[in-house]
Amino acid sequence: MTQTSRSLIPFASIRAAVFDMDGVLWRAATLLPGVAEFFAFLQQHDIQIAFATNNSTSTVEAYVKKLSGYGIPAEPHQIITSAVATANYMHHHYPAATPLYIIGETGIRQALAEYGFVVDPDQAQVVIVGMDRELTYAKMQVATLLIGRGAAFIGTNGDRSFPIPEGIAPGSGSILAAIEAATDVAPIVIGKPETAMFDVALERIGVTPEQAVMIGDRLETDILGAQRAGLYTALMLTGVTSPELAASSEIQANGVFAALPDLLVAWEAAL
Ligand SMILES: [Mg+2]
Repeated sequence: MTQTSRSLIPFASIRAAVFDMDGVLWRAATLLPGVAEFFAFLQQHDIQIAFATNNSTSTVEAYVKKLSGYGIPAEPHQIITSAVATANYMHHHYPAATPLYIIGETGIRQALAEYGFVVDPDQAQVVIVGMDRELTYAKMQVATLLIGRGAAFIGTNGDRSFPIPEGIAPGSGSILAAIEAATDVAPIVIGKPETAMFDVALERIGVTPEQAVMIGDRLETDILGAQRAGLYTALMLTGVTSPELAASSEIQANGVFAALPDLLVAWEAAL
């Protein structure tokens, strides 16, 4: 292990790995080192796998295709986007006939449609808000008026910004903040660091929280959310978190690893 790596994860009892993707498996459009070896190891040891992303714009099928393109085998049920978790939440809290208004892209629209929910801006009892790169004032106005009339306000994820090649761009959390400012109503937020996505992931792969490790690169979403849900946590330094931030943050993962090969070494050594 490199000197940036340390671990207090009981690997011998870990039966499942929940992966964040960007900054863990790839960065921008580049696959990170050691991914193929790591998945071969998990398969060899019959470790269950799930993928959890706060992205609500892409569909599950798009992720299956992207993972497969990188040589990572994945089935649709293993992929939990914040759109999937939001639709799951809606399914458990509202009848399918409940009319909705959605600010968001294909991922959240498709996930809700699969449970039978329909969009009706005139009758909507719930306003669902996710990342929408075609956001307009008119959409914000509809959402604000509906919430003002008593519609519930649900956000797919609270990420305020995300990196693009030119710099930092506004994310779903910025849209939520604008609507909250207009309505004085705070949204129910589903994505990491809330526990809903982890609960769905563990239920689908059939393990308990203490049998699972979350492998992520962002302290305030991946690591904090997994801790709240009761999973062990492995912070990867291949994404947005620097070694300095990993050391000084109030949020401390059970293990910190420079890269996936370092995590593999630590896991193999514990078996
Ligand atoms: Mg990430």
